[in-house]
Amino acid sequence: MTNRDMLRENIAATRDPITAKEARLLEEHRQRTSNLYCHGCGHLCETAAHGVPVATVLRYLRYYEAYGKRQEARALYQALPAQARDLASANLAAAEAACPYGLPVAQLVQIADRRMS
Ligand code: SF4
Repeated sequence: MTNRDMLRENIAATRDPITAKEARLLEEHRQRTSNLYCHGCGHLCETAAHGVPVATVLRYLRYYEAYGKRQEARALYQALPAQARDLASANLAAAEAACPYGLPVAQLVQIADRRMS
């Protein structure tokens, strides 16, 4: 949510309980799309990554790409400690193997670094 209208719309959507059919459709959608975004569960992959805060980097990439907040995303990325951006020392393949959602972690972190460095 990036503005008050979105916030109001989302709050309004919580007022009425959803039907069983809506719940089933939401769950199907969640399962079909869970590989398309980072869930923020860095505890699952960041130990393997050896220094790269994967969930944070992918959140900044979302700011950059999905929300169009390029300057802000770049500033946040560049403010990370050097170790967090040291991809040569990271093990992104291990982080990718640890991701239960099948995200292409190595590719996404490299894209993030290219766009926001
Ligand atoms: S890359 Fe995968 S395991 Fe790591 S934080 Fe994102 S969803 Fe969780």
